[in-house]
Amino acid sequence: MQVQNFNDLPLSRDVLKGIKALGFKTPSPIQAESIMPLLEGRDVIGQAQTGTGKTAAFGIPMIEGVDLSDNSVQGLILAPTRELAIQIADHLMRLSRYTGVKICPIYGGQKINKQINQLKRGVHIVVGTPGRVIDHIQRGTLRLRAVKMVVLDEADRMLDMGFVKDINKILDKTPKKKQMSLFSATMDRNIWKICNKYMIKPEKILVSKDEITLKQIDQKFIRVDNSSRFSILKELIEKQGIRKAIIFTRTKRGAYRLSKQLKNNGYNAGALHGDLTQAQRDKVTRNFRKDKVDFLAATDIAARGLDIGGITHIVNYNMPMETTSYFHRIGRTARMEAEGTSILFVAHGEESAFDDIKARTNLNITELKTSVEVQTGPPKRYKAICRKCKTGFTLPFKPKDERPVYCLPCLKSKRRSSGGSYGSGGYRGSGGSRGQRGQRRRRH
Ligand code: ADP
Ligand code: MG
Repeated sequence: MQVQNFNDLPLSRDVLKGIKALGFKTPSPIQAESIMPLLEGRDVIGQAQTGTGKTAAFGIPMIEGVDLSDNSVQGLILAPTRELAIQIADHLMRLSRYTGVKICPIYGGQKINKQINQLKRGVHIVVGTPGRVIDHIQRGTLRLRAVKMVVLDEADRMLDMGFVKDINKILDKTPKKKQMSLFSATMDRNIWKICNKYMIKPEKILVSKDEITLKQIDQKFIRVDNSSRFSILKELIEKQGIRKAIIFTRTKRGAYRLSKQLKNNGYNAGALHGDLTQAQRDKVTRNFRKDKVDFLAATDIAARGLDIGGITHIVNYNMPMETTSYFHRIGRTARMEAEGTSILFVAHGEESAFDDIKARTNLNITELKTSVEVQTGPPKRYKAICRKCKTGFTLPFKPKDERPVYCLPCLKSKRRSSGGSYGSGGYRGSGGSRGQRGQRRRRH
């Protein structure tokens, strides 16, 4: 039976009040299908695209399942990142506002004593990252003997991040007899392995077979090169009406640099990456949520599960390292019924990564044009002549007249004769731009 209304479900008055206060009118498909079996105590595997309301799908029945006369931890939710643990706890607190159920997020980076005190005062539902949960178990500050409901959220991501051992360790500390559910946007063999190990005849709810349809997202791409990347971004912000965006970079340094560049150009920008302290990460996420920051330059740390309203655009400033990240990144916009746009920057040499992305979606990714001049072929190379053997070769930068340049073979023999030292001066020719940079860095 497809549940049309939250009132059709056997939910308590207080929980219904919380749902109403959040403004939810009808259950989303994953909620309509998983709340009932979870209320009945069955194990559930739920797969649905991001932004389809998975948190409430497991949160509502978990809140209903808490016995308020018992002050011990009865529900445990594991999530891959700190931001996500905070977000889930926050969502559950709002749902359970009228019930008296106590919920606490437990994550690394926050002072452990604060969490210990909270746990001491009594908590019914713990939402934690695996590392910190283990830390508390080992300190004896978190006891899982009374746990009767466990949820693994973003299970695929937790496995990607190498949490499988931690998860097993934690699950082994929980009673055998419990309800377990697992939610994920994608399913693979390793996840089925966990399911088979810990679940009993789970109800499998696969809301969409093709997890990547993301229909509400208008996907676009634009050709860029390294020297025009930022100018193109600026043009897009102005011309495409980008009001609130996450701009994904490949590296932490890249995120930091981009946020600086944006700020220098008068934009309200912040950076989110793994080198920040937890307090800094919380602050920038909070400011972005509250619209105090319009542009968040971020690494893939922000790609998963973060649910922030009003994001008009996702910009893939750098091509994601893995195809799946692309879909997680763009899933940060167009949450629920809203619409959003994603823009992918494609540079020379990134065609095959781009083809992989196109192959995994049945939707069109349309091209945007820019007025900024872009080098579409391979990066420019400059002619040079080897000082020693006088042969011509090319370099990725213009050699200065006063500096001697050497082709690769001559440079190698020079280096051998000078005992492997780079210090003898001279540029290395053709191809090895990596070595080139290394040499220059050493010299200055
Ligand atoms: P997922 O975990 O599937 O990516 P979330 O649980 O983070 O999705 O929910 C995405 C957004 O949809 C949140 O802002 C949430 O408040 C909202 N939402 C969830 N369920 C409903 C509903 N039944 N009606 C309206 N909005 C909902
Ligand atoms: Mg989620």
